[in-house]
Amino acid sequence: MALDLHTHTRFSDGTTTPSQNAVLAKAAGLGGLALTDHDTLDGWAEQEATCRLQGLAFVPGIELSAEDGATSVHVLGYWVDPDDAALLAECGRLRDERSQRAQRILELLAGMGLEVAEQAVRDRAGPAPIGRPHIAQAMVDAGLVPDLPTAFDRYLADGGPAWVPKHALAPEDAVGLIRRAGGVAVLAHPGTVPERVGWTTLLVDRLVAAGMAGIEAEHAGHGPATMAYWRRVARERDLVVTGSSDFHGGRKDVALGASTTPASAVEALSDRRRPAALVAGDR
Ligand code: AMP
Ligand code: MN
Ligand code: MN
Ligand code: MN
Repeated sequence: MALDLHTHTRFSDGTTTPSQNAVLAKAAGLGGLALTDHDTLDGWAEQEATCRLQGLAFVPGIELSAEDGATSVHVLGYWVDPDDAALLAECGRLRDERSQRAQRILELLAGMGLEVAEQAVRDRAGPAPIGRPHIAQAMVDAGLVPDLPTAFDRYLADGGPAWVPKHALAPEDAVGLIRRAGGVAVLAHPGTVPERVGWTTLLVDRLVAAGMAGIEAEHAGHGPATMAYWRRVARERDLVVTGSSDFHGGRKDVALGASTTPASAVEALSDRRRPAALVAGDR
């Protein structure tokens, strides 16, 4: 049995509901899935209930935004305590910051003669913390760009004319936050920035020192050579290898279950959970 350990819903920048993802996982023949929306746990209850009905394993997760300088780093956290005060505070802080950042991005766009209504962006985001994909979608809706990639290429991409960085945790602190919330941390899609492979390998060593448990070597955005490289990096450091689609519904052309993690690896990951008191003591 295999699980898809990285999926998104409308609670962040996916287009499907948590229940729909569970149904898709069942149809794909998976044994279960993780819900890893960006910086929120809001979809867990719905997906857990549907997984129970479908006889699927539900792995509660989050994809936490971190950054090192201007480089954004995504850290997956599994089995975190949904009542952990520090984790919830960081999610709330990121949500507020994303809201203010969206306003600044819209001001920059307006300065270039591109009028996008704030309400249109909020409607696109729905219950989710506002991300650039929601702004890009509102730009398409307003007829300002033909499609999402163009919105990013011309305006919203990192370093672009309407880009506003968000202030996120250092990657080590994201790993620590996840561990102190009783979860295990996995570096998401390490190979999606191929020109930074050396830097990212050094980042892995920093995160291993902070207690990271795994690497998402198998990702729909990694080619065969990239997967082989990150599998080797994981093996050499005794890290668990995970595989995932990073499903975003209709927002990306990747099917749920396109990459998966064997149940044995999910168990190995789960075995690396430690009580928060021990985590605090080993720092
Ligand atoms: P945000 O969290 O608001 O910074 O937005 C990050 C999301 O935007 C990522 O998870 C991607 O889905 C999307 N994204 C970032 N850069 C690009 C790009 N150059 N082209 C298309 N989508 C992008
Ligand atoms: Mn996303
Ligand atoms: Mn990501
Ligand atoms: Mn993701």
